[in-house]
Amino acid sequence: MTSEDNYSDNNVVSKQVHKHDHTPPADQGPVTQVQAIQIAMQELLIEKGLVCAEEIRETVELIDSITPSRGAEVVARAWLDPEFKSRLLHNGTAACLEMGIDLRPTPLVVVENTSLIHNIVVCTLCSCYPRMLLGLPPDWYKSTAYRSRIIIEPRVVLLEFGTNLNPELSIRVHDSTADMRYLVLPQRPNNTENFSVNQLTELVTRDCMIGVTLPKNSVTS
Ligand code: FE
Repeated sequence: MTSEDNYSDNNVVSKQVHKHDHTPPADQGPVTQVQAIQIAMQELLIEKGLVCAEEIRETVELIDSITPSRGAEVVARAWLDPEFKSRLLHNGTAACLEMGIDLRPTPLVVVENTSLIHNIVVCTLCSCYPRMLLGLPPDWYKSTAYRSRIIIEPRVVLLEFGTNLNPELSIRVHDSTADMRYLVLPQRPNNTENFSVNQLTELVTRDCMIGVTLPKNSVTS
């Protein structure tokens, strides 16, 4: 009897007719030290009545629902509104609150790309990231390779992202912490003078706001 027969006759799923990666789910295997601390903290906070399980679930649901388009809307507004841009660079948290985006209590520092300076964001310690603006960080942002190499050889790493910066540009790499998050304000692409806010928003990608690439006007570039 073949596996196909086995499946159709007995409803037994075999690997031959059930073809995909059979990597065990992430929650199989021993609990890591970080997971144990997280579980202990959660149970303690609930036990003391400081939070309830529903609040934790709602927060997880909110973070899971956030996409980089939220950050892109902030960038597009800064491109269109010089006064908002000034406020954003002065106090990112307060400026985002104007748009109904509450990042408190973590301060947001917005760093502007110019014709002289290119900014990149990293968290060399772990994975600190402006999640309330961009959603969950990509896997490469959390990798040891990115966290170490972007500090040592940023131009080489950017080339691997397909970003070839003008050699005359100075590069600043900003190291996030648990107390401070960074967002890159990219330069507005050329030939976008007549673009609406929605058209500008579409040009701003997650990676532009981390600083590993540049926004492109796909119409003209
Ligand atoms: Fe971190």
